[in-house]
Amino acid sequence: MFDLSNHVAVITGAGSGIGKGTALAFAHCGAKVVAIDINGDAVAQTVDEITRRNGQAAAIQADVGSEASIDNAFKQVEQQAPRIDSLLNVAGIELYKDYLDVTDAEWDRQIAVNLKSVFLCARRAIPIMKRHGGGSIINTSSVQALATTGRITAYAAAKGGIISMSRDLARDFAKDGIRINTICPGCINTPMMDRAFDSPEARDRAVAELNEGIPLGRLGEPRDFAHLAMFLASSLSSYITGQAIVLDGGLMCRLPLT
Ligand code: NAD
Repeated sequence: MFDLSNHVAVITGAGSGIGKGTALAFAHCGAKVVAIDINGDAVAQTVDEITRRNGQAAAIQADVGSEASIDNAFKQVEQQAPRIDSLLNVAGIELYKDYLDVTDAEWDRQIAVNLKSVFLCARRAIPIMKRHGGGSIINTSSVQALATTGRITAYAAAKGGIISMSRDLARDFAKDGIRINTICPGCINTPMMDRAFDSPEARDRAVAELNEGIPLGRLGEPRDFAHLAMFLASSLSSYITGQAIVLDGGLMCRLPLT
């Protein structure tokens, strides 16, 4: 088990799915978790689960699609924790829609929540990390940044932007001891994946097909993300920065003709 005692992790999107699983896993390994989510009840539930298991956590309700809300959240972060060792930008929203039907408002919200939030949260965290000698920022992209299912233009654009922005930040802040990496998940078993299907039956059929198509034979679980994130947050990855690491059970290795 990783030892993350004395580690402070700020995790956005910690009310559900990957962010929640990662918050629980970091706390289980001793980290103090500051959990942020737009859904106040859900993030309170995550923190309740952590504290009932004797872990340390604090909940902050915030919309990462709003600069004012992020500012307010990071004021609370500074009250909750003396420093930030890792920032995990996990919050995200999907939009499957024909390109010609995507409205300007939908495009703007996708970019605000999925891309600009990463820029803004890093901008708040980096000065705090610099004051304390460094840290690790872990951003969440998607395999949709590398190849797409179609009908997901704005999301794919945002997720692609995260990879390029992270690489650029990695160069700029390496001298400050801050490493910045991106995880590109494939199909992870979360409520977001469930919402991609019209019915539980359609989901079950698709999952059976996906299990055939994923070389490792199963969907990913939030804990798979958490394990990679722990490695990237810890000093075991101290020579790794600016990377986009695919976490997909081998899905992207497979050409459709084979
Ligand atoms: P999820 O819907 O289960 O959880 C997302 C969480 O983010 C929710 O708790 C939600 O309330 C929160 N959130 C949404 N908008 C927010 C906002 N404006 N401010 C603050 N919090 C907000 O989804 P998930 O599957 O756990 O996805 C987590 C991340 O992983 C997302 O960035 C997603 O794009 C990415 N991802 C997921 C998959 C997958 O297969 N599940 C694949 C690739 C990438």
